[in-house]
Amino acid sequence: MNTANGPGSNAGWHLAHSYSQLPEALFTREKPLPVRFAALTMLNDPLAADLGLDADVLRHEGAAVFAGNELPPGADPIAQAYAGHQFGHFTTLGDGRALLLGEQLTPAGQRYDIQLKGSGRTRYSRGGDGRAVLGPMLREYLISEGMHALGIPTTRSLAVAATGESVLRDRPLPGAVLTRVATSHIRVGTFQYAAALGRPDLLAALLDYTIARHAPDLQQAEEPALAFLEAVVERQASLIARWMLVGFVHGVMNTDNMTVSGETIDYGPCAFLDVYHPDTVFSSIDHGGRYAYAQQPTIAQWNLARLAESLLPLVHGEQEQAIEKLVAILSTFPERYGQHHLAGARAKLGLTNQEADDADLYTSFLAVLQETEADFTASFAALAAQAEDQPGSLASPLAPAFAPWLARWRERLSREPVGPGEASRQMRAANPVIIPRNLRVEEALTAAEAGDLAPTLRLLEVISSPFCETAANEAYRHGAPAGSPAYCTFCGT
Ligand code: AMP
Ligand code: MG
Repeated sequence: MNTANGPGSNAGWHLAHSYSQLPEALFTREKPLPVRFAALTMLNDPLAADLGLDADVLRHEGAAVFAGNELPPGADPIAQAYAGHQFGHFTTLGDGRALLLGEQLTPAGQRYDIQLKGSGRTRYSRGGDGRAVLGPMLREYLISEGMHALGIPTTRSLAVAATGESVLRDRPLPGAVLTRVATSHIRVGTFQYAAALGRPDLLAALLDYTIARHAPDLQQAEEPALAFLEAVVERQASLIARWMLVGFVHGVMNTDNMTVSGETIDYGPCAFLDVYHPDTVFSSIDHGGRYAYAQQPTIAQWNLARLAESLLPLVHGEQEQAIEKLVAILSTFPERYGQHHLAGARAKLGLTNQEADDADLYTSFLAVLQETEADFTASFAALAAQAEDQPGSLASPLAPAFAPWLARWRERLSREPVGPGEASRQMRAANPVIIPRNLRVEEALTAAEAGDLAPTLRLLEVISSPFCETAANEAYRHGAPAGSPAYCTFCGT
């Protein structure tokens, strides 16, 4: 394997390795397993530029790097160890098919993990083949970039490389490697792993490292473990509220799939609501609805409780008092979540001042959505268009069942300090007209699997500007036609 002057040597790689300064119990050095025929399928030009990478050089020479056949200069790949509660059951995991090449230091002075996903077996692969397939990697690329465009913290996707190999799932499928970019890949499960090893020194090193990387202002805190838990509780409360406000269902909120940075991670069976229903589940394996849309805040708090447990050995004082302090922080989650959610709900309804009934106004809108089986995104977008309409206007694209609610909303808007023009402008900024629609994603991936990337590229372009209504995105604004079978996603990625 060529590492010195290989492809990408002029691309602007500037890889650092702070994570591998941690005790070796937390990772393993591994090499990507070369693939038969590397070909660059997707490259994220704007993200490359932000990372200080030259997209033109990468386009010519990057396939080998993004498929794992060549290491970029300065790479020192590791597989990270972590644990996790998967559907409530504790398991020891780790990067079973991913490798961290290093941390790219950007021209703006930021540090981003560069990770290959699908790069071959590692020490943590268990029964898996270490590989990934094209459809799900393109899916992660599309949806993560769609989330980013919606303004929601997320890991990003820099590239997808095809491997020229066939990977056996329920049938042979084209292999691919995704290059994922994150402020870090430290998960709730990373802390669970360190805690499960029963070595407080390891846990303390991980906490110090994570605080230095993600919350340096907490380094002087009296009780860093508590301050850190509070920071993660706050980030997750904000993140989950953002998901709920766009109708995003993550689908597999295991503790290994929850970052401490507050970025959305691991786009497996995730999908967006079309028709609003709080119990919506897309994942074929989530039989009990554990990760249903409306369950997400509760599950987030459950996951954060696992983080709190892991931090227990680092909290000062007697165990009983330590538990009390952790629980006190954990129990702020509902309040924090509620505040983030209400702020977002007000923005969606065009409200700038605060009234006691605002949460109820939002919930009542959802109730009408549910009753009328209306589309979540399209209904909010339609509402934004109504802010400037005169009371009693018959032009509403919302069903007649919305009339009483609309009357209440208009009355509420009349007490706003801003005029209808400004309310409408704010609503348009808070209510996307475009989300990555399930039928569009499936259509794109089916074509890509058959060798036609054009629908994926078109979809990517459309979902990259989710707040503008254009002639070109009209066809991407609708959900599945009424009467379509329920959308179902699969974990077999
Ligand atoms: P996920 O469901 O993607 O969050 O993955 C859960 C765990 O399974 C992680 O430790 C992954 O690295 C591992 N994993 C998933 N797919 C594979 C695979 N094909 N080969 C090896 N490990 C895998
Ligand atoms: Mg995962």
